[in-house]
Amino acid sequence: MRAVIYPRPNEVTIGEVPVRKPASGEALVKIKSSTICGTDLKILAGKFPGTRFPHIPGHEWSGEVVEVGSNVADLKIGDRVGNEPHVGCGFCPRCLEGLYNLCFNYGKAELGHAHIGFTVNGGLAEYCACSTKALHKLPSNVSYDEGAFTESVGVALYALERARVDPGDSVAILGPGAIGLVAVQIAKKAKGASKVILIGTRDERLRMGTELGADGTVNSATAEDSVKEATQFLGGKGFDVVAEFAGTEEASKQAIQLARRGGRVVLAGSTSPGKNLNVDLSLIVRGHLDIFGSLANPKWICEKGVALISNGSVNVKPLMSGDYKLEQYREALDAFQKRLGGSYRVMIHP
Ligand SMILES: [Zn+2]
Ligand SMILES: [Zn+2]
Repeated sequence: MRAVIYPRPNEVTIGEVPVRKPASGEALVKIKSSTICGTDLKILAGKFPGTRFPHIPGHEWSGEVVEVGSNVADLKIGDRVGNEPHVGCGFCPRCLEGLYNLCFNYGKAELGHAHIGFTVNGGLAEYCACSTKALHKLPSNVSYDEGAFTESVGVALYALERARVDPGDSVAILGPGAIGLVAVQIAKKAKGASKVILIGTRDERLRMGTELGADGTVNSATAEDSVKEATQFLGGKGFDVVAEFAGTEEASKQAIQLARRGGRVVLAGSTSPGKNLNVDLSLIVRGHLDIFGSLANPKWICEKGVALISNGSVNVKPLMSGDYKLEQYREALDAFQKRLGGSYRVMIHP
């Protein structure tokens, strides 16, 4: 099969590799739609510690099941599926809670752990064999392109569930990338937030947020005091819930400053080590804040995320751009880096 291969950090080739037969508990998926997201750049640069080269990237994809291994009861040939990247070992305490994203045996393929497109080969290829634990059936009204957002919608939904958005809550969201823009829609349309304010540094992305349901936006790059500007939408009060997807120290600090007393803050953007928070601790202690970290998504969330695409609460179509073949991967990567057509997610159709 044809596949995008990273032979070593910062190097890309498109090559021919054998199709791996699905092992026990696995399915072979013919990839229909696969996306490039910002994390792929980190993996390519060799900055993701668990990746071993040569590596086939691709952790956000969808396709059709064309073969199943032994001991597979949940999927059959012909099923349309979207993937999530985390396959936990299945027996450690975190996995037994369903928190595959926090598996204690991370990176130990011999113990059944896989992080698809990170520690094991992914879906920027014609086929991908993986555990059926990572696959979610797509409802018939969800296209393959939409199904490639199974993971992204799961990440946004899980962060908001960590911080618990109640109906009528005011919500601030920092970081208008694909996940932040999905979070705007979930907060507004699925969770019943009264007001959703989106904060970011790029006007075109903030405009997209307004189109997708945000009640107000603040450009933190140009605002004199973006915390003040955002709280003005609430008559100067802080937010019930603040969700950060921007991945910067400044955004995380603002997230804590934006919460009302006794409010809830979820920090989900800074997934790599090395960033530090410099905040007045009384904001947290005297502010009586609940602060959550959120990493990726556990087992049960993606299924619900796909249901939100299916019922119309989440529209991911405006977050797609491009239509590339595997052979055009470099071109697609270039379009992503130059943010052509918005480039929230660049779509590759192997
Ligand atoms: Zn991603
Ligand atoms: Zn585990």
